[in-house]
Amino acid sequence: MAGYIPYGRQSVTEDDIAAVVEVLKSDFLTQGPVVPAFEEAVAKISDARFGVAANSATSALHMACMALEVGPGDSVWTSPLTFVASSNAALYCGASVDFVDVDERSYNMCPERLAGKLDRAASEGRLPKVIIPVHLTGQSCDMAAIHAAASKYGVRIIEDASHTIGGAFGANPVGHCEYSDIAIFSFHPVKIVTTGEGGMAMTNDPELAERMRAGRSHGITRDPALLERVDDGAWYYEQHSLGYNYRMTDINAALGLSQMDRLADFITRRREVAATYDAAFADMPVMTPWQHPDAASAWHLYVIRVDAARHRAVFDHLRAVGIGVNLHYIPIYLQPYYRKLGFSPGFCPNAEAYYAEAISIPMFPTITEEQQQTVIAEVAKVVCA
Ligand SMILES: *Cc1c(COP(=O)(O)O)cnc(C)c1O
Repeated sequence: MAGYIPYGRQSVTEDDIAAVVEVLKSDFLTQGPVVPAFEEAVAKISDARFGVAANSATSALHMACMALEVGPGDSVWTSPLTFVASSNAALYCGASVDFVDVDERSYNMCPERLAGKLDRAASEGRLPKVIIPVHLTGQSCDMAAIHAAASKYGVRIIEDASHTIGGAFGANPVGHCEYSDIAIFSFHPVKIVTTGEGGMAMTNDPELAERMRAGRSHGITRDPALLERVDDGAWYYEQHSLGYNYRMTDINAALGLSQMDRLADFITRRREVAATYDAAFADMPVMTPWQHPDAASAWHLYVIRVDAARHRAVFDHLRAVGIGVNLHYIPIYLQPYYRKLGFSPGFCPNAEAYYAEAISIPMFPTITEEQQQTVIAEVAKVVCA
């Protein structure tokens, strides 16, 4: 459609393309030098010791759950307002999942609700092994508060930071893992930095990094220090666990590495776009995204809320005029697959109230001023009618 404005879009430059072409002409399309270089670049900006790249954030979430030894009989808790991958990763390991309702303002896992639910679970002997808080829209959860609640019971933490590379909370860049075991970034094209498909697990724990590296490549190691038997020769390797092929290619990593040079510019531009929306909607019956005073969002998404009675009409109007709005997300437990696991409507009231009102409007660094004014004018037409 001419003039179609998507809710999110990648930015790919000639430099990005040249970086990919260079790999295509090199000796290694995969398992070459560019994946480790990309891992280092992401570790550097997020202030984590290790980055373990994977072919998607979903794979990275699965590797992270495996590294924390999530298995049958275990329970994993996440937010209901996230992509299904956050909880599917636990199901892949044979664990059960449960959900902690979100804070009504930030839409992130509520630390107080988490603490209360953990106290009840402890008294009933059904504590989760791992929790997966999600930094929705690019705004970090209050990780210090979440960590305080979880560490009281020895519960491990994986941050789903798929929306949030380049974001910060207080002095800490997202991904530094001070208050978690592992943090996961996604490099899908609608996210902030892209590799086409791809993800990365950040950690400060060398053992978890090693387990995730094994998990992404069949559970195989060649590290002489880790071999169980005397090696048979230079070809020798050992499989110690059941891993997968979750490797990222050097082709994908080259795109990501080249994009990392522009991460700061991406975030600056996303903040400008958010500020323009904030100002434009201030006098309209539109709820703009609340920001925690300590959070510096990466602004993956810009979510407005409108009166539930008009929600469908606003959404349908915007789609009809070529504005690719979306809704992030349908509370996971309302999915038919999850209802069959025993969940039903009413379980997380804050998440459901959000779902009745939320709309993700276009937010990406290359959106033009004119496109943004079109979005604002079309929203105004329906909400101010
Ligand atoms: C995109 C996303 C994922 C999955 O990422 P992929 O790289 O597509 O596998 C997981 N969690 C959240 C919150 C996401 O937004």
